[in-house]
Amino acid sequence: MNQPFDALRAVLASPQKVVITMHRDPDADAMGSSLGWALYLEKKGHQVSVISPTDIASNLHWLPTADRVLVFEGTNAKARECREVIQEATLVCCLDFSAISRLKELGRWVNESTATKLLVDHHIEPEPFADIMLWDTGAAATAQLIFETIRYLDGTAILDVPMAECLYAGIMTDTGSFRHGNTTPEVHLAVAELMRTGLEINKVHRMIFDNSPLLRMKLLGHVLSNRLQVLPEYRTSYMTLTAAELEKYKSGTGDTDGIVNYGLQIEDVVMTALFIERKGEVKISFRSFGDFSVRDLASAHFNGGGHRNASGGRTTLSLQETVDQFLKFLPFYKAQLLSVEK
Ligand code: 5GP
Ligand code: MN
Repeated sequence: MNQPFDALRAVLASPQKVVITMHRDPDADAMGSSLGWALYLEKKGHQVSVISPTDIASNLHWLPTADRVLVFEGTNAKARECREVIQEATLVCCLDFSAISRLKELGRWVNESTATKLLVDHHIEPEPFADIMLWDTGAAATAQLIFETIRYLDGTAILDVPMAECLYAGIMTDTGSFRHGNTTPEVHLAVAELMRTGLEINKVHRMIFDNSPLLRMKLLGHVLSNRLQVLPEYRTSYMTLTAAELEKYKSGTGDTDGIVNYGLQIEDVVMTALFIERKGEVKISFRSFGDFSVRDLASAHFNGGGHRNASGGRTTLSLQETVDQFLKFLPFYKAQLLSVEK
């Protein structure tokens, strides 16, 4: 007996009108877990709509059935359609986030829905808004949790290549291509099962990583050459990007994903931040090694959260003011930063 799984099994025993939604600016785990779960539920005879609060990064458009995702912030007509499917839903699934605020304005409609709510997530700060919580901070990815849920409910024989592509995309990206500390034996066992469907893993890597517009590479070159600062006394690096630079390099949603990781590749650096000025706010990405928790940093000072070694936040200050805040807080973390093993 496993309570949340069995509660879910009971709900899915009769055909449901399902809405699956994910966090704003969805990454490959948010999209991959949502689409993989949608494909599974459809195979089981449920009616499924998938909603993203914001538009979707171009390197995720190839994911099987990505073109069916309703973008709430797209047009007024799309927003209305999203509201209607949520109002009609009997089951609302919230994937890869634990705080309703990460849905932006869409959160209001999810809050008001009287449907059964399912949360599937691996972030640290759960809000208790769901009826059924499949929540495990030890899981490498939400896609890993979806894989385990499907295996529990039905076994792995039901998996097919499109489902496997979606779930593999989430697991692969959230483990940094199987190199972060969250890469458990369970991750590799899940991948083994996904590969048994006939999944071509090199296709997924190619579509996500080797598919950049030329300008994205140029932007990366510009940031690394001109906007990367290292603070050896804090074993910290950081980078900045202004709205004008994003405009110049025609950088859209998702095009800046991955840039932050370069900051950690510098010798002796154990924490890095990327500050991006976009849509009237500053979005910050943090990454760290070992025991240093950027999730604590993001939630204490930058209205954010996430995981110990990968977190994000945002401010309504200017880019320079946000960086100044960060620099002001660093001395308080100096001892912790110096004690991290790299
Ligand atoms: P990224 O830097 O790639 O946007 O995000 C890194 C991690 O932090 C992801 O797991 C993401 O879900 C989480 N994260 C990013 N931004 C926020 C935020 O504003 N609030 C919270 N709670 N988590 C965030
Ligand atoms: Mn995510």
